[in-house]
Amino acid sequence: MATLQLNNITKRFGDTEVIKGIDLEVEDREFVVFVGPSGCGKSTLMRMIAGLESATGGDILIDGQRMNDVGPADRGLAMVFQSYALYPHMTVEGNMGFSMRLAGVSKEERRAKVLEAAKILQLEPLLDRKPKALSGGQRQRVAIGRAIVRNPSIFLFDEPLSNLDAALRVQMRIELARLHDELDATMIYVTHDQIEAMTMADKIVVLRDGVVEQVGSPMALYHHPQNRFVAGFIGSPK
Ligand code: ADP
Ligand code: MG
Repeated sequence: MATLQLNNITKRFGDTEVIKGIDLEVEDREFVVFVGPSGCGKSTLMRMIAGLESATGGDILIDGQRMNDVGPADRGLAMVFQSYALYPHMTVEGNMGFSMRLAGVSKEERRAKVLEAAKILQLEPLLDRKPKALSGGQRQRVAIGRAIVRNPSIFLFDEPLSNLDAALRVQMRIELARLHDELDATMIYVTHDQIEAMTMADKIVVLRDGVVEQVGSPMALYHHPQNRFVAGFIGSPK
């Protein structure tokens, strides 16, 4: 089980406040999508949830436990970035098992976990390949595989499909939805793609300039956008 709670989170870089007091509740196994224009603070917020960036103010709770002072490795989550650099000299199996190797997990156990994730992601035939011999979509699946082997209770995806072409994005969207069903995990997903948000989200959070503009189901936001800004992102044309 994994719930996430943000209480009045702020973030300041120097004199500039980029996150201006965000409150949010994410339920266990919910698929929550953050949308908003470039520069509104989506990645900063994700990095704070992940523990890669400290919050200037407010509390981050996972399953009710305050996480502000807990390191990224101990928050029980895994993050997949937009630019998912794989280690070029390692095979797919090596890439997927790398974090476990660092953690001192035995070779047999690593292999078992990698195989399990590879099966879910249909990467089994590719385990011995190096990244340069993979397509964009296959590389992205390896990046997701690296996250899966860590058994996170929360997945954080920051525009994971934005480097893929349209057809692959559609396919990956379906695969991520299936993954969400299979893994019993809570997922937080950043995108600027309206269709991704509408089709994948249980709940959409519309961000604007460091604040939450509106939160709701895709249908609620589509039919009842609070204002023109939200309507411009996901509302029905009125
Ligand atoms: P988004 O992901 O929504 O495009 P970001 O979270 O990357 O937005 O950035 C939000 C704002 O914070 C931007 O104005 C960006 O320039 C600024 N910012 C992000 N990271 C830093 C940093 N390390 N130092 C200073 N400013 C930053
Ligand atoms: Mg970003």
